[in-house]
Amino acid sequence: MEMKITRTKMFLAGKWLDREQTIDVRNPQDNSLITTVPAASKEDMLNAIEEAKEGFNIAAAMPVHERISILNKAADYIEANHEKYATTIAREGSKTIREARKEASRCIQTLRISAEEARRINGETIPFDQMPGSEDRVGYYYRFPIGIIAAITPFNDPLNLVAHKVGPAIASGNAIIVKPATVTPLSAILLAEAFEAAGLPEKVLTVITGRGSEIGDVLVTHPDVRMISFTGGLEAGLEISKKAGLKKLGMELGSNSPAIVLDDADLDEAVESIVSGAFWAAGQNCLGVQRVYIQKNIFNTFKEKFISRTEQYSIGDKLSEFTDMGPLINEKEAIRVEGIVNEAVGLGAKVLCGGKRNGAFYLPTVLTDVPSDCTVAKEEIFGPVVSLFPVDDLEEAIKKSNSVNFGLQAGIFTSDLNKAFSAIGKMDVGGIMINDSSDYRIDGMPFGGVKGSGLGREGVKFSIHEMTEPKVVCFKLPKAL
Ligand code: NAP
Repeated sequence: MEMKITRTKMFLAGKWLDREQTIDVRNPQDNSLITTVPAASKEDMLNAIEEAKEGFNIAAAMPVHERISILNKAADYIEANHEKYATTIAREGSKTIREARKEASRCIQTLRISAEEARRINGETIPFDQMPGSEDRVGYYYRFPIGIIAAITPFNDPLNLVAHKVGPAIASGNAIIVKPATVTPLSAILLAEAFEAAGLPEKVLTVITGRGSEIGDVLVTHPDVRMISFTGGLEAGLEISKKAGLKKLGMELGSNSPAIVLDDADLDEAVESIVSGAFWAAGQNCLGVQRVYIQKNIFNTFKEKFISRTEQYSIGDKLSEFTDMGPLINEKEAIRVEGIVNEAVGLGAKVLCGGKRNGAFYLPTVLTDVPSDCTVAKEEIFGPVVSLFPVDDLEEAIKKSNSVNFGLQAGIFTSDLNKAFSAIGKMDVGGIMINDSSDYRIDGMPFGGVKGSGLGREGVKFSIHEMTEPKVVCFKLPKAL
């Protein structure tokens, strides 16, 4: 019997379009085919940009109360269809259904915060009379939208990271073209469905499906695209930055985040938080904990508690309510992670638990004795692997935490405020969590990194700032006044 394969359409400037050439979307857990999406061509991308030019005029002219209403209606739509959104995230990506539900709920938050922030895009009056000769000038600045935003997004949070670009873009009156990750396009397409249902005018939003290597350059290099809001890996981020030309760049890149555990910390809380931070979404998380620096006198106790908690993890079917961790995004990625662990072991590292692969699944893995020059100690592994390092004191932990080319977020566990403040001042990161792991974020806080972790900040209000520019207005008053 011939199986009927469903085809999912892309959303180009308000129209649902199919193409003869398609890309398979597969469930990473068993490689089964979920559906196909169009493999958009360069011409499709050029058309999307052409339509977005008009989309920008429409978006910029839309009164703020309409933007607020549309954003809230899109959030309502997702709320009403919450399980459909969660299931789509869980099927096409790596997340378990419980992780996916959290992402769908956060997406609703992101859109509601965007609606709130739309009414707070303010300017200021400028005291022009600060300069001699300007006593007869009055004026102000306000923030205006910049035009077409290109949003290029990764696979690991396929809904909420797209919402983090679309929500602020609509709130601030821009047009936006989303190119989601090729392996997880369906959640982004569902987000477009929510905005269509909410009454967003056509042409303001496009979600175009296709490979970054084939259609990415058209978007990245096009002079009418005024900003590239990219979330993804360092390598692609660097390539895009080189090609972009004179455009604004938002770069939300990767990391290999540290956690520091001092001997005055609550060890059980630290273990719980770091285990979750290391293995959330099978470690495919830009904020995931990869390196843990533990004060020597508590190292063995921490290690034993950590392994015991990790070994309780249930690995398996993403759609089961009882699964704690699913597969990596595909077998190739699991093989890559396995290779990095094997390299570390070859150089002297010890595997305390995990270290085994089955297809796209890789067990939660804890390493010790990891030499500082191997890949897992320096680069982003983007998998369920965490290394434990003993340190003498806070100074050594900070020095080692800062010794890499990343700096997104960090966590420190201590009950000593002085030590916490010392770490806050000295750690090279975009965010530091006291008594939480690096894997803590709310959608309204500034979010982004330093060094190889990126440029600029997201978090709705901060994205709106990046997606707008100040325009100065100055009135020269008549002499009679
Ligand atoms: P990726 O390989 O860098 O891809 C990200 C996106 O960029 C995809 O849509 C990809 O398209 C596209 N792309 C790749 N090369 C391109 C090019 N030359 N021109 C235009 N587009 C291009 O990353 P990923 O594997 O999906 O995601 C994992 C990475 O994202 C990790 O490094 C993680 O830390 C990072 N991340 C960062 C944050 C943050 O907020 N800082 C959040 C989540 C993830 P295709 O899929 O078609 O290749």
